[in-house]
Amino acid sequence: TVAPSRRPIRDLPDELISQIAAGEVVERPASVVRELVDNALDAGATQITLRLLAGGVRLITVEDDGVGIPREELPVALRRHATSKIADLHDLETVVTMGFRGEALAAIASVSEASILSRPAGQDSAYLLDARSGELRPAARNPGTTVEIKELFFSTPARRKFLKTDATELAHCVESVRRHALARPDVGFSIWHEGKLVEQWRAVPSSDPQEALARRLADVLGEDFVAQSVPVERLNGAITVTGRAGIPDAARSRPDHQYCYVNGRFVRDKVLTHAARSAYEDVLHGQKQPIYALYITIDPARIDVNVHPTKIEVRFRDSREVHQAVRYAIEDALAVPRAAAAQAAAQ
Ligand code: ADP
Ligand code: MG
Repeated sequence: TVAPSRRPIRDLPDELISQIAAGEVVERPASVVRELVDNALDAGATQITLRLLAGGVRLITVEDDGVGIPREELPVALRRHATSKIADLHDLETVVTMGFRGEALAAIASVSEASILSRPAGQDSAYLLDARSGELRPAARNPGTTVEIKELFFSTPARRKFLKTDATELAHCVESVRRHALARPDVGFSIWHEGKLVEQWRAVPSSDPQEALARRLADVLGEDFVAQSVPVERLNGAITVTGRAGIPDAARSRPDHQYCYVNGRFVRDKVLTHAARSAYEDVLHGQKQPIYALYITIDPARIDVNVHPTKIEVRFRDSREVHQAVRYAIEDALAVPRAAAAQAAAQ
């Protein structure tokens, strides 16, 4: 018999490593949007503008008015595992920024034609870095950053084939911005597609947080969401839960108005969905899906956000405690209209 042939073990080239990482981080244009908006928010932006062509497949640009990237750091921003957000393991365990893995820009740039135009407030001019050629030259821009991603997946046709119609990809991109917008009423967002303004959510001037949230929810999900929901506010204990929960009548056939955030990050989590569901156990029957936007604040040391490259999952150190906090927060909130209705019925 012939011994199976083998090739020597070798280090993969950097570009290929990034392309492999891109397989996890970048599924479609909306994943790029998520990463770029995360970065803009981490940079302290107050206004974020997204411009798309062909559902984001041909072009995605994200403009912000954040702190910018100094000229000499532009090439570093594109390197794998290069980040300004953490420096050691302790930082990782207490991370409060959206990003920390330092791989998004490198991964995205490896499957597209990327450029970054940026100017920190103190710098005389902006600089434009072309990722492919490495060329760095002065350009014009107000302080802030513009990241431009062209021809996503042009080099990886297998991935490109999985993309849906432009309209579907656009809808996913809008949903991605919506998730950010619901967490940050203080930031203005606009989305342009093929030169047309498709969404615009103006920054809500800082006022009472519940009021600001209600205004942002009305802009993003519609007035009905607010009219048919009650404020959630559980501030005691180690875990705070705020937001709004829909009245039972507002339940929908699909779970498309269920938004959960942990320390400002949109997450999909079974513990949270189950907790919310159980709060409605006595008032909602059948397959109806409650609507809610819930914001959980917890000591970063009690969660692990480094579970998945897209950071859409978290792990709680004590999930029972989180489950209870969420369940009781919603039950308390719903008890208000329930008590009022019971009183009205009694009269
Ligand atoms: P991460 O966000 O995990 O740090 P990224 O690859 O997304 O990794 O970004 C790399 C670095 O580039 C960031 O740490 C940040 O310093 C810088 N950066 C990226 N986007 C922006 C932006 N819009 N404004 C300012 N700095 C940015
Ligand atoms: Mg990032």
